[in-house]
Amino acid sequence: MSHPGPETFAQNARDALRDPILTGALRRATDTFAQRRTGAIAAVPDWQDLRERARAIKAHTLARLDHYLEQFTTNAEAAGTTIHWARDAAEACAIVQQLAEQSGARRLVKSKSMATEEIHLNAALARSDREPIETDLGEWIIQLAGETPSHIIVPAIHKTKEAIGQLFVDKLGIPESSDPQVLAAHARQRLRAHFAEADLGISGVNFGVAETGTILILENEGNARMTTTLPKVHVAVMGIEKVIPRFADLDVFLRLLPRSGTGQHLTTYQSLLTGPDAKGQGPQQLHIVLLDNGRSRIACDEVMRETLACIRCGACLNACPVYQSIGGHAYGSVYPGPIGAILTPQLSGMHSAAALPFASSLCGACKDVCPVKIDIPSLLLELRKRAVEGTASEPAARGGIGERLLWRAFAWWMGGPRRYRIAMLLARLGERVPFAKRFAGPLRAWQSSRELPKLAKRSFRSTWQGERS
Ligand code: SF4
Repeated sequence: MSHPGPETFAQNARDALRDPILTGALRRATDTFAQRRTGAIAAVPDWQDLRERARAIKAHTLARLDHYLEQFTTNAEAAGTTIHWARDAAEACAIVQQLAEQSGARRLVKSKSMATEEIHLNAALARSDREPIETDLGEWIIQLAGETPSHIIVPAIHKTKEAIGQLFVDKLGIPESSDPQVLAAHARQRLRAHFAEADLGISGVNFGVAETGTILILENEGNARMTTTLPKVHVAVMGIEKVIPRFADLDVFLRLLPRSGTGQHLTTYQSLLTGPDAKGQGPQQLHIVLLDNGRSRIACDEVMRETLACIRCGACLNACPVYQSIGGHAYGSVYPGPIGAILTPQLSGMHSAAALPFASSLCGACKDVCPVKIDIPSLLLELRKRAVEGTASEPAARGGIGERLLWRAFAWWMGGPRRYRIAMLLARLGERVPFAKRFAGPLRAWQSSRELPKLAKRSFRSTWQGERS
């Protein structure tokens, strides 16, 4: 099953809004995560201080990304890890493909990783008949369904347990059930067999520690632990922005990420890998693919750089009224929600994702919950500006000449006190016309999804003048 792209966001969103099962599942799940987060952070007295520290660590690292990546590489290689550099998705996929071929691996298992989703690694490996088996339960469900994830940390958030039960009947031939325990038991049984046979494991990386060359992978199901220990070869795909300077910095991020994402004090498993396992109990080869794919360009942009501070906790998705209503697939990109609205146009180019920075009410809920305090509303506004005005490297992607002239005329009209008073007078008269009949032409489409606030009976100016006289 294919999913629409970000170019058709408006239509995707309308389709999603017409699906009551989807919107119900989304609302229940995002509300649950948001409540759990509130409970989890209430128990941390220095929560705001932690957020500040995380923001400072990320800002410091991103401003010296080249230095910390070199340090990470040196220390990882000293521990026996092989580091590979990938400029883009094609290079990253080719590296993993080559590693699989060189090691003679035919059976691959993979734990959840947004970076590998971003580069479409599964599809690339499938071309040589090496598609990995997803081992995170949500990802496995999505793989069975032939879909893409609709949430950063809960890939199957849009699916009800009844839909999953039916999927298992169709794909696994098991008796019908919507009991999560029964479904999970079937999944466990199938996945265990894949782990036992796997020659090569693939994972993402939550954090890469420069001073030790260590990578950290967080998860709850134990599947990443098995993916990183049972196969003889392990390949971790790590976005270059995942590097942090010191081991002690993990203390800050480990307190922030699980609480923000799932409302847990800590994830059930934290796997730290520093080189291959010399005692033969883990992988004999550890490879880390450092993925750029547009990140160094973002790091050089002083305004947009903070996008890379994201630790992929998913809290902004759960808090966003737009995401809550339409889910992840409507964004047509691997990264949905508020973080996707700022990241996707920068990674894939404004022309293919110009609708996304406009897919926000700018309510600021994303900024309030972000553990690293990314100012998403400001970045959305900056991207809107770039989409309309264009940049040195990209022409304008939104706003025709008619729209520009209209807004200029609006700015001129509202810019003089007399003209402003006339506008308010006309607006008051216009309020007497039923809302649906107030606009014509292209403005009708604009009005169809908006409600204008009611004007006060008396303007502030006339009230002020009345009080003074
Ligand atoms: S932008 Fe902030 S809240 Fe959203 S996923 Fe990234 S770290 Fe989490």
